[in-house]
Amino acid sequence: MKIESQQRRTLLKMLGAGCACCVCGSANARLLKYPLHATEIGSKTWAVHGESSHFNLENGGNIVNVGFVEVPDGVVVIDTGPSKRYGQALLALIEKTVPGKPILRVYNTHHHPDHCFGNQVFDPTLIAAPQGVIDNINEEGNAFADNMYRLVGDWMRGTAPVAPTVVLDAATEEVGGRQFSLFYLSGHTSADFVVRDDTTGILFSGDLAFLYRAPTTPHADIATWQAAIDSLGALDRDLILPGHGPSDSRGESLAQTSDYLAWLEDTLAGAVDSGLTMNEAMQLPIPDGFASLNVVREEFERSVVHLYPDLEDQLMPLIDVTR
Ligand SMILES: [Zn+2]
Repeated sequence: MKIESQQRRTLLKMLGAGCACCVCGSANARLLKYPLHATEIGSKTWAVHGESSHFNLENGGNIVNVGFVEVPDGVVVIDTGPSKRYGQALLALIEKTVPGKPILRVYNTHHHPDHCFGNQVFDPTLIAAPQGVIDNINEEGNAFADNMYRLVGDWMRGTAPVAPTVVLDAATEEVGGRQFSLFYLSGHTSADFVVRDDTTGILFSGDLAFLYRAPTTPHADIATWQAAIDSLGALDRDLILPGHGPSDSRGESLAQTSDYLAWLEDTLAGAVDSGLTMNEAMQLPIPDGFASLNVVREEFERSVVHLYPDLEDQLMPLIDVTR
């Protein structure tokens, strides 16, 4: 009996210490491995597609599309993923896909953490974005990092926001022997940056376009976003790599994002008009046309939180309470 309880105490001690032991430590480190895969979407152009879901402990924030292009003298990277660990995996994937070629330029499409928190592993003198994107990373990067640590935990270990050092304002840039057109837009956030590879016609739209995944709206101005989609629709292009979802040769991502935003705006305006509370608005039905979008219910609820207070301010008449 005494031996039995001693054995149990020893076992419990071992289990308690287990999380810190080197065996579990290395098993844990092995689990935190991003399964990145490069899909060739055009000549010497690859997409690294993330999951169509939310940030969680399983995906480590890998819900985003990143692109890279082999140019004559090196490699151009568009967005860097959600963490330092992702950035390291991305660098390894680029080296495996395009061996021996130096990274010449890294573009950030906007300041959301899934798009730029891999910046840390790249030479900061190569990371470029418009001033608005840089300002947003400087202003909100630390708060995003806190939030990401809460949402995806250990995947973020060692990650800190790094703002681009190269300020872009030209209409085109030649990088390593290939020309890229640069477009300065907004609407998904206050600064959204779009890159087109003029050789292939591939447009890296960032989060101005989503495909088969409901758009996110934490910093959205919907009217401005719709205008940005219109201007992207008017561009010569062969393919769009949206910020989230599969690559798109038919412009479906622009149409789907625009249609969803129009429905969202109308629905929320109608809800304010009918006097619904935010909680009631969150329960509104999703029409068939959008019901199959990934994470649509969750994103709709989040959009109510993001957009409803301003809509109420705009649409509800102030009552004169003069006595
Ligand atoms: Zn975004």
